[in-house]
Amino acid sequence: MSERGDEAMFGSIEAGGTKFVCAIATEELEIMERVSFPTTTPKETMTKVLEFFKPYEESLKGIGIGSFGPIDIQRESPLYGYITSTPKLAWQNFDFVGTVKEVFAIPVAWTTDVNAAAYGEYVFGNGQGCSSVVYYTIGTGIGGGAMQNGRFIEGFSHPEMGHMLVNRHEKDNYEGNCPFHKCCLEGMASGPAIEKRSGKKGQDLNEEDEQWELEAYYLAQCAYNTTLMLSPDVIIFGGGVMKQRQVLKKTKEVFKELLNDYVEVPELDRYLVVPKLEDNAGTYGCLALAKEQQLHS
Ligand code: ADP
Ligand code: ZN
Repeated sequence: MSERGDEAMFGSIEAGGTKFVCAIATEELEIMERVSFPTTTPKETMTKVLEFFKPYEESLKGIGIGSFGPIDIQRESPLYGYITSTPKLAWQNFDFVGTVKEVFAIPVAWTTDVNAAAYGEYVFGNGQGCSSVVYYTIGTGIGGGAMQNGRFIEGFSHPEMGHMLVNRHEKDNYEGNCPFHKCCLEGMASGPAIEKRSGKKGQDLNEEDEQWELEAYYLAQCAYNTTLMLSPDVIIFGGGVMKQRQVLKKTKEVFKELLNDYVEVPELDRYLVVPKLEDNAGTYGCLALAKEQQLHS
């Protein structure tokens, strides 16, 4: 497909640990084309990414990037736009924004993959009309992004909510998968944690498997901590593991028990939800951020 005359277009780069998803959309954020590449080395993967956008160069007005991290988001930092201390060695200290800007001299929005997904849900999904939205992805890793009044919550860096500490379930002997903390949320409840504990991938486990009781116990603690720290309007759980819909139901039950009516929360079926945009939350978030960025620069 080639560029469409003088119509403005926006690009999205969702950079995940296993794959990159790139998309191009019209000004109305209607997606025209979307591709996916495996995450290998920056040289190999980024060559494919940049080649994908090249035919649209004339019309491209902004690109939004939602990246796995940790990433540097401090505008005044010399490493702004870099992926920093990731365990994926080939991507450590990779100048992501600089590499894109070298080829496309246009505004580039830069945030975490989960912030991008939170933004997508805020603009088009289950966070619409909310002033405060939290998004977690429960996949190969666990990450969280939070928004308040249209802005991401951040300070010296972006949040790393996926590494909150959790209490181990009394029936759980698994030590935890996180190389930094062992028994943190990611260590106990990510896809690889389920696989190491049970010997099977989550997608191959029965709906009744006892893993899901453990999973719900950890996600309920996550919802509990998030509720008491941020009192958001909605908490959205996405990622591969949440394809097990029984997990969300159990999570709500355990959450209610943990909270023990200490605070009054929104009705649980509206408060603890899966993404309305399903797997597209990140792409739409990147596109919306690209468009915003273009308006502000
Ligand atoms: P990533 O985090 O790599 O971007 P995903 O969000 O799909 O990708 O997460 C992948 C993880 O989710 C894997 O550990 C996989 O076993 C697990 N997973 C994927 N699909 C399911 C499913 N239907 N049920 C349970 N776990 C799943
Ligand atoms: Zn951890």
